[in-house]
Amino acid sequence: MARRNRWPTPERAGSSWAPSTVLVTGGAGFIGSHTCVELLDHGYEVIVVDDYSNSTPQVFARVERIAGRFVGAVYELDIRDRRALSAVFDRHNVDAVVHFASHKAGSLSTRMPVHYYDTNVGGTTALLRTMHDHGVRRLVYASSCWVYGDAGGGPLDETTPVRPGTPYASSKWICEQILADVCRRDPEYTVLCLRYPVPAGAHPSGLIGEDPRHTPQNLLPYLAQVAVGRRERLAVFGDDYPTSDGTGVRDYLHVMDAVEAHRVALDHLDDEPGMHVYNLGGGTGSSVLDVVSTFSRACGRSIPYDVVPRRPGDVAEIVVDARAVERDWGWRSTRSLSDVCRDAWRFQRLNPRGYVDSARRPGTKG
Ligand code: UDP
Repeated sequence: MARRNRWPTPERAGSSWAPSTVLVTGGAGFIGSHTCVELLDHGYEVIVVDDYSNSTPQVFARVERIAGRFVGAVYELDIRDRRALSAVFDRHNVDAVVHFASHKAGSLSTRMPVHYYDTNVGGTTALLRTMHDHGVRRLVYASSCWVYGDAGGGPLDETTPVRPGTPYASSKWICEQILADVCRRDPEYTVLCLRYPVPAGAHPSGLIGEDPRHTPQNLLPYLAQVAVGRRERLAVFGDDYPTSDGTGVRDYLHVMDAVEAHRVALDHLDDEPGMHVYNLGGGTGSSVLDVVSTFSRACGRSIPYDVVPRRPGDVAEIVVDARAVERDWGWRSTRSLSDVCRDAWRFQRLNPRGYVDSARRPGTKG
């Protein structure tokens, strides 16, 4: 039986409906933790589930310190565990879900496809079945511009044909199709699917940021660890792409822009039922060498690097046209690559060994 809880939070009393309790899957992770801050700042009750496969519960003390409020509850669980997930929905009146929990390294996924499909697709179907059982019909889904694959350059809009080229990208695309089918079958559902490029940067406080538990797979955290002395040199994966300097070009989206978009999405969950897909991004492409030089300026030292062969699954360019979401919701990214590098560096400088070893001095000013 569908259950809809429609009670506006005080600051949203003007809008027709606002979810007051939001379940964030993967809420301890990079984007998840910043989303918790954003939602707490805007009056939502936040419930988190996370298996800490690439995160740590220590992040929540910092989230609470920034927001000045507590995350309502945090559950350590694997979202494929429907019994455990169901117990969370039994305990809380969840109005909407923001679904981040997934593996995200495109290149790694080529080496462990089953692992990726199992978690990313299996986790999403387990979540959907649990939502269905508990009458929850509103979801913001974190997808990826990787679904477009090697689209041949130029800004990608939502009409660009999808061509997922890695198991990671395919897993996101499969989930999108499942969600579209669910919406076709049941008109009670609203799913807002946000495809974003490379999220990067950190909260301006320097208290939370990107702190991968294993060797960083993404450029920014790897660069930051070289800059802080944890790693010797950056490996630049290929300089023979058809781009201005031969290195891969990406649209780096500041994590604070990304989480604002997720919060704005929650405001639009009641606009129109069905599945709606939007690209997020800044529309500006930066090469790996652009990022290296911008980061070097931010941290005040040059970053040593070697050019090595291309990484499996990589493409030359992913730059996003995000005009649809600006037209429909008024959201656009406002932060630059310099902001991304400055904030990523501040987090790394204040937390040279990440959350775990900096646990005793999270409030250091910088
Ligand atoms: N990259 C690199 N060295 C690294 C990590 C990434 O040269 O250690 C390159 C990668 O080939 C791509 C860009 O940096 O061109 C962004 O990669 P990232 O993994 O951050 O994001 P993705 O493109 O996988 O979403």
